[in-house]
Amino acid sequence: MITRFAPSPTGRLHLGHAYSAVLGRQKGGRWLLRIEDLDPGRARPEFVGGIREDLAWLGLAPDGAPIVQSERTHLYAAALERLRQMGLVYPCFCTRADIAASLTAPHGDAGSAYTGTCRGVADDPERRETTPHSWRLDSAKAIAAAGGVTGWQEDDGSRHEGTAAMIGDAILARKDAPSSYHLACVVDDADSGVSLVVRGADLRPSTPVQRLLQQLLGLPEPTYLHHPLVTHEDGRRLAKRDQAPTLAAMRAAGVDGRALAADLGVGILPTGYRLALP
Ligand code: GLU
Repeated sequence: MITRFAPSPTGRLHLGHAYSAVLGRQKGGRWLLRIEDLDPGRARPEFVGGIREDLAWLGLAPDGAPIVQSERTHLYAAALERLRQMGLVYPCFCTRADIAASLTAPHGDAGSAYTGTCRGVADDPERRETTPHSWRLDSAKAIAAAGGVTGWQEDDGSRHEGTAAMIGDAILARKDAPSSYHLACVVDDADSGVSLVVRGADLRPSTPVQRLLQQLLGLPEPTYLHHPLVTHEDGRRLAKRDQAPTLAAMRAAGVDGRALAADLGVGILPTGYRLALP
């Protein structure tokens, strides 16, 4: 059993992160820490320090050195290149405004995030050289290349089918950002030998595309445990601006981190919070 805790250092950890970390740790086996710091606009080094402090306060020690995504971008670039060689990704020059406009056009498909404007357009390396663009997965072609069937398995034994509509033509990289969350996640999960992905149910919609990428890249298939999210008692999601549920604030208020971790491990939450499925 190898699990991982993969926070993005874009703020302080909160109760929801603690719950996820405790669930992963209590699965036994190796429990890895991965710092998902690929978003240069939002990731901050001081939050990496905060993550380590908060985990130590909870009494959770990751196995081995943390895996830091910003140090591994060559691996993501190599995976993207493989998909490119397979003809399964295409450059997309659409801006957010283009996409929004085509979605509101009378015949636009409001149900999908991307309308496919750049799909099937002949590659123009010169334009790529000079123009910002992203790389998208051609989801229909990719499912066909994976043998026509994709899907994943949850820890409770249930199997779930992935469809092109769920996957969409997901962005895998941008000219100025070497990898999207999806591509880096599958490369790292495989490289670390992760056998069980423990994460919040808010990330469940990411699973179809991640599973498909594993198939295309010939990577092993982990099992997934998408757990309920910690919310306020009234069901409101914990927001970045909520200070009270941050582990730093709880520590400052004198809460015992190890006792909190023990409670979370048996599904007991501090007063004012509960578990809910999104
Ligand atoms: N970095 C993601 C987050 O903080 C988690 C990704 C994952 O567990 O797959 O929400």
